[in-house]
Amino acid sequence: MIYFLVYFRNYFKFKFCSYLNTKNIREHRIARVFLINFKDSMDLSKTKSGTAAVWAGEMQTFCEGATTPPVVNSVTFAYDDMDEWFDVAIGKREGHIYSRNTNPTVSVLEEKIRLLERAESATAFSTGMAAISNTLFSLLSPGDRVVSIKDSYGGVGKIFLEHLPRFNIDVQLCNTTDHERIEEEIDKGCKVLYLESPTNPTLKILDLKRLIKSAHDAGAIAVVDNTFATPINQNPITMGADLVVHSATKYLGGHSDVMGGLVCGNSNLVRNLFQFREINGASLHAASAYMLIRGMKTLELRVQRQNANALKIAHFLRNHPKVKEVFYPGIESHPGHDIAKEQMSGFGGVLSFSLHGGFNDVKQFLPRLTFAHLAASLGSVSTLVGPPKTTSHVEMTEAQRKRLGIPESLIRYSAGIENVEDLLDDLNNALSNI
Ligand SMILES: *Cc1c(COP(=O)(O)O)cnc(C)c1O
Repeated sequence: MIYFLVYFRNYFKFKFCSYLNTKNIREHRIARVFLINFKDSMDLSKTKSGTAAVWAGEMQTFCEGATTPPVVNSVTFAYDDMDEWFDVAIGKREGHIYSRNTNPTVSVLEEKIRLLERAESATAFSTGMAAISNTLFSLLSPGDRVVSIKDSYGGVGKIFLEHLPRFNIDVQLCNTTDHERIEEEIDKGCKVLYLESPTNPTLKILDLKRLIKSAHDAGAIAVVDNTFATPINQNPITMGADLVVHSATKYLGGHSDVMGGLVCGNSNLVRNLFQFREINGASLHAASAYMLIRGMKTLELRVQRQNANALKIAHFLRNHPKVKEVFYPGIESHPGHDIAKEQMSGFGGVLSFSLHGGFNDVKQFLPRLTFAHLAASLGSVSTLVGPPKTTSHVEMTEAQRKRLGIPESLIRYSAGIENVEDLLDDLNNALSNI
């Protein structure tokens, strides 16, 4: 008898508990759905960049309440409900199918750049060059024409000069700051206008609003590489750009430890580009996306510091007897200063300068710097320094570099977030020893 009573008591206790558990889990799920909806419906488009950099893409409840986005390594995503699976597969309902196409961690990153650049849509790539080449190859067809500048990023120049012509695409590269000439070429008709400002390595400035307007008048699509400026200093979309491309490897990641590329802008254009990338396969890995997400949270802080460091360093170098010329749009005498002041909210962390002596002086000077990696790339928390002759423009002849206005003794200096007093001391010591 007692045995049966205990048995029944335990039986009912078990039943009751499992009822409670199911109920809890279900309510918990409902609560989560509500939270997601509640937070997603909050409009971040009016927030300032520092807030958007932290919160964009993260206004949702992650697994178990995690406060940072999980790295979703899963290649594939499962559905119990066939109708739901089908709806997601045909894009009728949000969700993920396969990580070459979309991935939850990568989506968080895309939302960050979308908000920071004030764009309609965004899509991510494995590198900056993947973002740019996919953009160009998805927009251009044989017989089309593209207008750009001679100072675009080295890899992009190679696409223009060596690869697009193989597909019978006409490429017109203009002298970078010759706005009249660029407009003339646009007026002759083109499918794409491809711009970059400030440029590498002499920090030339283009009047983006003016050129984008010309492109639109001619029915062309305006694409801007915003890598150097970052969305903190410049938002080409607010100046009319249709697409903005980024090497996230630089400032967005910010620590020289991850590569990535991003494109954002007009929804229709981004959708086409996304579909091209889906089958082209230059997708970003979730682990890299996480590193970029983490880097981007401090983007505003870093860029503000780098703006300030570069400006002080540019002024210091301008008054140094060993320095011949300083290229930085934040200096009043820079030919693009007025336009830069108009279209940028900071002048950026990269500057370049030439020495009175030739390349031999550069060879003596650079190894004497303590707080600088002598290395390619830019936009890292640590100062990165190198001559275009051995980095970005290594494949050119001296004559080609000269034609681009790149002096033999030019040094590109990407200011890190170090204390500027230390950077100035460092530069001063190294300069006085040559
Ligand atoms: C570095 C860079 C690129 C290429 O990006 P990767 O991530 O190295 O492929 C494109 N444009 C600009 C302005 C760059 O500085």
